[in-house]
Amino acid sequence: MIDIHQYFCTNEACKCYGLRSQGSLIRAGTCIKQGERKQMFRCKICGYRFSETRNTIFFNSRCDSATTGKIIRCIAEGNGVRYTAGIIGLSKDAVNAAVLKAGRHIDETCLKQ
Ligand SMILES: [Zn+2]
Repeated sequence: MIDIHQYFCTNEACKCYGLRSQGSLIRAGTCIKQGERKQMFRCKICGYRFSETRNTIFFNSRCDSATTGKIIRCIAEGNGVRYTAGIIGLSKDAVNAAVLKAGRHIDETCLKQ
C-alpha cells in the first residue's frame, strides 16, 4: 500500500505545495493508466485531485512504469537510444521520449534553485 506521507499537494498555488506529511491529503479513488492502477489523492486544503504519478517521469508516460524504468536503466548503463529500443522492443522515438522526459524532470526538480 502506498505511504500517503510520501506525497504532497501538487497544486503550486496551495500553501501545502511540496510539503510532505502535512495531513492535508486523502485517498480519492484510483485511475487506470497504461494498464496500471494508480492511486488518486485529494488535498483537503485546496481540493486539488491528482494521481500518484503527478510530478514524476511516469505521469502521462507513453510506457508503463516498469518499461520506463527499464529504459532509464539501459541508458544509464551507457547504451544508446537505438540499442535500448532494440533491447526493450520499442521504437527509438519511444525511448527518446522517455529519456527526454526524465531529463526535463531532473532539470525541473533537482537543478532548480
Ligand atoms: Zn493543495
